[in-house]
Amino acid sequence: MHSSVDHFIAGRRRPGTSGEHFSVTAPSTGEVLATGILAGPQDVDEAVAAARAAFPAWSRTTPAERSEALTRWADRVQARSEEFAAVESRMCGKPIRLTRGFDVPGTIDNIRFFAGAARHLEGHASAEYSGDHTSSIRREPLGVIGSVAPWNYPLQMAAWKLLPAVAAGNTVVLKPSELTPLTSLMFARAAQEAGIPDGVINIVTGTGPVAGQALVAHPDIAMVSFTGSTAVGRQIAAQAAGAVKRVHLELGGKAPFVVFDDADLEAAARGAVAGSLINAGQDCTAATRAYVQRPLYDRFVRRVTALMDEVRLGPVDDPATDMGSLISATQRDRVASMVDAARAAGATVIRGGRAPGGGLDRGAHYEPTLITGAAQDSAIVQQEVFGPVLVCLPFDTDDDAVRLANDTPYGLAASAWTTDVFRAGRASREIQAGCVWINDHIPIVSEMPHGGYKASGYGKDMSLYSLAEYTNVKHVMSENTGAAHKPWHDVIFTSR
Ligand code: NAD
Repeated sequence: MHSSVDHFIAGRRRPGTSGEHFSVTAPSTGEVLATGILAGPQDVDEAVAAARAAFPAWSRTTPAERSEALTRWADRVQARSEEFAAVESRMCGKPIRLTRGFDVPGTIDNIRFFAGAARHLEGHASAEYSGDHTSSIRREPLGVIGSVAPWNYPLQMAAWKLLPAVAAGNTVVLKPSELTPLTSLMFARAAQEAGIPDGVINIVTGTGPVAGQALVAHPDIAMVSFTGSTAVGRQIAAQAAGAVKRVHLELGGKAPFVVFDDADLEAAARGAVAGSLINAGQDCTAATRAYVQRPLYDRFVRRVTALMDEVRLGPVDDPATDMGSLISATQRDRVASMVDAARAAGATVIRGGRAPGGGLDRGAHYEPTLITGAAQDSAIVQQEVFGPVLVCLPFDTDDDAVRLANDTPYGLAASAWTTDVFRAGRASREIQAGCVWINDHIPIVSEMPHGGYKASGYGKDMSLYSLAEYTNVKHVMSENTGAAHKPWHDVIFTSR
């Protein structure tokens, strides 16, 4: 028995007007979870109008009022944790252990963080910098934010987009991926139950080219906040340039995982397996390229292979399942074709490299895959695979490690594994990425920013940095002497 996917506009659930029917399918089983009508440009217009109407009152609430509303929102989500975890798990093909242990508690922590952050917008101290004027800084919300999110962590992506925007006093229209809208809608309804006024948060589910485009191009959107692929991010930035719209881009990644010869081999091997297979590798910060210093290389490959052999694929609602399915058969086929191309180009597939058989063939599963012998300039090393695939390559000198780590267009995240404090320091300085982990890979915290360098985009999610991005800085300068003739007027007329 499946439910209907509505849109959430001005606090009301209603079907879309595009006339185009769609379904949300559990990718691990093929079961239809919900059906609905996609949003078209008219739905986007209505959602933007609702957000615009809600802006004046919401932007004038006090930080304390917004903070209290967010705290109630966190409580509502917490009270329904299990339901959120179950829906996110089935909708995405994620193991229930992942959604219970990471997606849902991470989201609740994000809400609680932004409840506090709403009261901590910072700027310069007010002062008489010129001598005769008092200068002060106002940080003002921008207006209506148009947010577009991907399918890999739908609940957390909705949280990362909505929370800083709303905490800073903006209103939002969020377009989740049409593959994964259900938890974004539940999240918005929880906000309504928490007393966040209708119109502050609106959700329209449609395709990128239709609803996404209509939102990005809408003249009443003050800022576009996008998380997704670099290719789409580029198009959005080009389009926003015409209207001089603020753009926030969280794009693809191809994280290097650098293991120096003094590293703890067991810690690094476990980190590589967990860091490459989390969310079936559909994680923009996933470990994708392990560069291992030659003395450790063979042992590392053997240990990673053994650990990957232990990873259990299975039904997503079984707490014993370690890795679920990919988001769709299309995504699985894309991953498979990249692995096949690497094989054809001379790389060695040490393990995996195929869809599993047995009871899993109804879903979009793919085996944990380890590849060696790939050329540094090959597609499997340079391009985002977004699947459970780790490439492992040797290096000789520390200079090589830094050069190889930086040798892709991306710069979202990276890790360095070493017990040498100087190597750790060099890696953290010289690897071009928005996050460099030392002796770990993946953990995130609400207090710290997430965002890219290079083709991974610009702008930060989470942390006070993201709150600031959803505001405009205004300088207010008040003259204090009341004199008609000010000293600087001498540049136009001398003291007359
Ligand atoms: P995608 O770029 O195909 O789609 C992302 C979103 O953009 C979807 O909602 C889609 O409908 C919409 N979209 C597509 N074309 C559009 C257009 N022309 N105009 C407006 N909207 C459009 O990405 P995806 O396949 O959903 O997600 C995977 C990608 O997201 C990967 O590249 C991954 O690295 C990236 N990602 C990045 C981060 C980060 O924080 N940097 C986090 C998660 C995912």
